[in-house]
Amino acid sequence: MLFSILEMLFWVGLAGIPGWFLGGALGAVLGALIALLIYGASLLWKLDRLERWLSAPVLRQDPPWSGVWREISVRVQRMLRQQEKLAAVHQKQLQDFLQAIQASPNGVVLLDEQARIEWCNDTAAAHLGLDAQRDRMQHVMHLVRDPVFARYFAQKEHDAEVVIEGRSTSVVNRQKLSVQLHAYGEGRSLVLTRDITAVAQADAMRRDFVANVSHEIRTPLTVLSGFVETLQSIPLSAEETLHYLQLMSAQSDRMQSLVADLLMLSQLEGSQLPGTQEKVSLAALMLQVTTEAQAFSDWMASKGEGPAHQLEFTPVPDVYLLGSRSELLSAVSNLVSNAIRYTPLGGRIQVQWSGTPEVLMFAVKDSGPGIAAEHLPRLSERFYRVDRSRSRETGGTGLGLAITKHVMQRHGGELRIESVVGQGSTFRLVFPNSRVLRQPD
Ligand code: ADP
Repeated sequence: MLFSILEMLFWVGLAGIPGWFLGGALGAVLGALIALLIYGASLLWKLDRLERWLSAPVLRQDPPWSGVWREISVRVQRMLRQQEKLAAVHQKQLQDFLQAIQASPNGVVLLDEQARIEWCNDTAAAHLGLDAQRDRMQHVMHLVRDPVFARYFAQKEHDAEVVIEGRSTSVVNRQKLSVQLHAYGEGRSLVLTRDITAVAQADAMRRDFVANVSHEIRTPLTVLSGFVETLQSIPLSAEETLHYLQLMSAQSDRMQSLVADLLMLSQLEGSQLPGTQEKVSLAALMLQVTTEAQAFSDWMASKGEGPAHQLEFTPVPDVYLLGSRSELLSAVSNLVSNAIRYTPLGGRIQVQWSGTPEVLMFAVKDSGPGIAAEHLPRLSERFYRVDRSRSRETGGTGLGLAITKHVMQRHGGELRIESVVGQGSTFRLVFPNSRVLRQPD
């Protein structure tokens, strides 16, 4: 700087000398003024060059001049470089941060002071039906038109979340979103969205399940307490008393079966998947199933007036299943006992094991009433019954097929159902080869 002032004084002084000789004191002042003007113009020119040099899109390596101007240029250039680096670091941090929010399974919308959308991640866009690019700087209330959200947005406090319907809602599938607003910065806010459809569904299923269980237990309990009251208050003959006790016993059996099936279901849900260490002999398993099936059909025949079912068991292959014996027994006997319970007396029931190189299959084919196609996908839901009264009469709990399906899933297999009304039904259990030991040691 000092150098520049000295340089300027030098030129002013130098221009003043010839001015002095030519026109005395006035000439000297004039000469100095002209020199000052020229010096000022050259200064402006240099500043202009400097400005253009600095504002080049890419900073040039070296300033193409020397002296004090070079020094100023280098310093300014260094400062600009530092600022550029800092801006790049901040930009990178911002990108990383936005990428992290983008990866979040929850939706995030950033709103400015006027509630205009500054940014939103793809999840929020899908949840609320926004376009992350197009809807930038649009007022959120113009785009999210849910009345529940509008009321929530208008509130002063947003401590609790609110549940609204998501954009993917369809007639069959209702998407539930939990939305919460959080204030941040100076007047800005953050909208967080979370898909709670599965949670809401699980909640509804749990409520339905509890209601179903209560209903299933309440019916026999009411009947039982009615009989107890009758026995206590009305003098009955020994024959009548015996009759009432038999009815009571049937109701308590029903409750016992229900509790046993509920325990089985909860055990299936809460225990580890069955390993492949336990070898279950098909022959031994089917011996038990066959004996019980025959006894059950005879019992039904003794109760109703008619011949027992024609039970046909084809020879069992000499293989072992790898899994839980109690679970497999339950799956197999549920299908056989269902066939007996739903097929009229004297009907035909064929039970068969067969195999292909890929799978081992168990099939129960009956000549019963068959099941209409619309019921088939729902048969394995808990407490879903087609023929409610037949189920009750024959001691059904409405949980048999749910248990069977669960057991099959736990063994990597599946339950398949085919049925035509009036032509009977075929229930199949398909086991993958990984659960079959064809040549036991
Ligand atoms: P339940 O204890 O009521 O038999 P399941 O889960 O075992 O319960 O079966 C569900 C429903 O499927 C039954 O209520 C019945 O309506 C129907 N069902 C099952 N097996 C048969 C079959 N072999 N023939 C006709 N209907 C059947």
